[in-house]
Amino acid sequence: SNDTIMQLENSISTEDAPANPKSNTTESTAVANSNEPNPLSKSQLKKRRKQEEWEANKSKRTEFRRIKRKEKQARKAAAQAAGLLPPPPPSSSRRPVQVPVSFLIDCDFESYMMEKEIISLTAQVTRCYSDNRTAVYRGHMGISGWGGKMKERFEGVLAGNFNSWKGVKFMEEGWMEAAGIMDGLMRGAEGGKLLGALATENGLEEYKKPRRGSKKQEAESAGPESAELESAEAVQLEVDEQLNPSIPEASDATNSSSTTPNIVYLSSDSENTLTTLSPYTTYVIGGIVDKNRHKGLCYKRACDAGIPTAKLPIGEYMTMQSRTVLTVNHVMEIMIRWLETGDWGKAFSKVIPKRKEAKLKAKEETDGAEGEEDNEGEDGDGLDEDV
Ligand code: SAH
Repeated sequence: SNDTIMQLENSISTEDAPANPKSNTTESTAVANSNEPNPLSKSQLKKRRKQEEWEANKSKRTEFRRIKRKEKQARKAAAQAAGLLPPPPPSSSRRPVQVPVSFLIDCDFESYMMEKEIISLTAQVTRCYSDNRTAVYRGHMGISGWGGKMKERFEGVLAGNFNSWKGVKFMEEGWMEAAGIMDGLMRGAEGGKLLGALATENGLEEYKKPRRGSKKQEAESAGPESAELESAEAVQLEVDEQLNPSIPEASDATNSSSTTPNIVYLSSDSENTLTTLSPYTTYVIGGIVDKNRHKGLCYKRACDAGIPTAKLPIGEYMTMQSRTVLTVNHVMEIMIRWLETGDWGKAFSKVIPKRKEAKLKAKEETDGAEGEEDNEGEDGDGLDEDV
């Protein structure tokens, strides 16, 4: 069949110029006149034969193109399966919108964990990745303190799958330095110009909208709720694409080199409560699974470094019978669901497993968020939730 294909390839290469006896005038007329019994010259015969061959091969050519097309599709699918190409968009063709917020998992806690806790943490980090990857509004994700047993596990047992993760920055640096790197990533090449964004009153809402095309007007005229949904479908915003057009110029201090990144270390022990996620801010999650043996560990780490801390507003939206120290992936997912809904209550009820007996305190009857999604099914993923 290789031969056939080569033959066909040759015949296709002449496609643009198939022999056409009728178009050949002067030379053939002269020959025909001097040779009455055979009105066609040798070269005319040859051309006619070629023409006939060309016609006869028509269906073969069609078949050849079909095979080539199939081969190309197969190559693409294989590359996607191997993670060399981005996977095809989900069937809903929902395109995530990248927003300028960073989630940084501080994985510099290995010495505090037992082997099985490291395994659990690795699963949680994987879950964070897929939750962010498939989110309607996706943040930038980073892992600091990358190395040690976690890296070994990702490379070994987990077969190096992380190599094909998109949009995650793996950093050997400690969390503070890594937060600076994430800051640079969020701001892209625009640098200090983007500082103006910090003054944006709408916070992240500004970045959830599509930046160009007619869908923007459509979405906006359809009201805020559907604008949010439309924007998710409309455009996939690459970082710098989304940053360029809409960000107000900073009125002062446009030198990025002299600015410190916005960092908030998340900890259930913090006296501060998170109300919103702010643009160009890196939220650090302590990458540790310890059944809370090491109480206040992350809180102390942040305080020692002079970095602000905050807890998620659990108490304000839910009553929880068990303790409110959550797993890494739950903390991450709550933030992702907040980006999606703009409502902490909804975010919590979508994420916190029912067996924690989380109940919405406020707005319980009014918005019916409780029971919107059954989280029980998510408990069998080996995550360590009984912290
Ligand atoms: N013994 C550890 C517990 C870590 S839980 C400690 O006290 O530091 C893993 C991480 O999830 C925490 O470091 C924190 O970043 C985040 N986290 C858990 N519960 C949280 C909450 N209620 N609010 C904010 N962050 C939380």
